[in-house]
Amino acid sequence: MALIVHKYGGTSMGSPERIQSVARRVAKWARAGHRMIVVPSAMSGETNRLLALAKQVSPERTTPELLRELDMIASTGEQVSVGLLAIALQAEGMAAVSYAGWQVPIATDIAYTKARITSIDDKRIRADLDAGKVVVVTGFQGVDPEGHITTLGRGGSDTSAVAVAAALKADECLIYTDVDGVYTTDPRIVADARRLKTISFEEMLEMASLGSKVLQIRSVEFAGKYRVPLRVLSSFTPWDIPIDEEARSGTLITFEEDEKMEQAVVSGIAFNRDEAKISLMGVTDKPGIAHLILGPVAEANIDVDVIIQNVSHDGRTDFSFTVHRNDYARTLELMKTAVIPHTGAAGLVGDDRICKVSIVGIGMRSHVGVASKMFAALSEEGINIQMITTSEIKTSVVIDEKYMELAVRALHKAFDLDQVPASA
Ligand code: ADP
Ligand code: ASP
Ligand code: MG
Repeated sequence: MALIVHKYGGTSMGSPERIQSVARRVAKWARAGHRMIVVPSAMSGETNRLLALAKQVSPERTTPELLRELDMIASTGEQVSVGLLAIALQAEGMAAVSYAGWQVPIATDIAYTKARITSIDDKRIRADLDAGKVVVVTGFQGVDPEGHITTLGRGGSDTSAVAVAAALKADECLIYTDVDGVYTTDPRIVADARRLKTISFEEMLEMASLGSKVLQIRSVEFAGKYRVPLRVLSSFTPWDIPIDEEARSGTLITFEEDEKMEQAVVSGIAFNRDEAKISLMGVTDKPGIAHLILGPVAEANIDVDVIIQNVSHDGRTDFSFTVHRNDYARTLELMKTAVIPHTGAAGLVGDDRICKVSIVGIGMRSHVGVASKMFAALSEEGINIQMITTSEIKTSVVIDEKYMELAVRALHKAFDLDQVPASA
């Protein structure tokens, strides 16, 4: 008898019928003798609807007071889901109880709209499991030290599920979603993307951080830190397929490199359309310039991603960096008010129509020429590269957003990702 955490995403919880199907699947696992915790997301579209309502009432989105209320509003989607799933389970003849994050409690810091889980009290959940109940816990939300409701950032239910699995020392965390695993790239963009039977933890971490929204990055971080066995699989298979078959389906995140059956130099392609680029032209090239420009950005709690400083000419240089698109207007304003007056920049250019496309693979450690193959494939399509960053197992380029799909497809083909690689 194992302790299993199931997580169901928005599409999987998208209608009363789909919730009933989730309940039947969970009941099947419970009847097979497993202790079950279920972490559902809000029904599909619900979080967007709630946040859009808030925007209609008040378009201003940045004050701490407003962010607190956004969490109050957005967290209700998951509260509805847990209640609905608990009654669907009861209708299946199961003993089931639902909890909001604060009732567990799932403790977080105070960073509204992107809070981090700090601890999870396992007592209440354990008591219910011991009493033979299925426990349904809200995804996406927690409670800060002052008792205020917080949310964990978009896609945060993945993180709730893995964190609950880590706190309860679950035997496995199964992430049920609307695709049947992790693919070489988003199967909605590349039709011949291939499902990976396994993906290494490090590659999954990079894919998630570079934009593959199949798992929220923090869920992968938790899985790595606490060694939570993690699998991504489909909630659209018939609910009554044999458990053995279901437990082997999808994609397993592996922690040992030699567990990896498939050896490819590049394992996947990620992309991210959420960035914007800001360039300061003709800044004085002197020690401390990067700090002068990026210091105020950091103070405003804005994350900077890619940074490029050009070769200087006559003591002046161009400096470019990217931020999240939500922070674009605020960063431009900061440049005008807090940076340009101190750096003597001759010009400010912004572009929020860019995207970042990345190739990821642990095989890149031991192979040379991978980045240049990437650049060649993009140049063959006439795609201009604006910025480049690399690390041991990834290379990313910033390009014009309108070429994103073309770039992803070209790279998928160039690295033969539609072909099964030779076994190791
Ligand atoms: P859920 O609501 O279940 O959390 P998400 O929409 O957050 O689902 O994540 C699943 C989606 O992630 C898929 O529908 C797919 O379009 C997208 N996706 C992006 N990259 C990948 C990838 N490499 N493999 C699988 N799915 C991916
Ligand atoms: N409902 C939240 C969102 O839409 C959390 C999640 O689905 O994981 O982002
Ligand atoms: Mg998701």
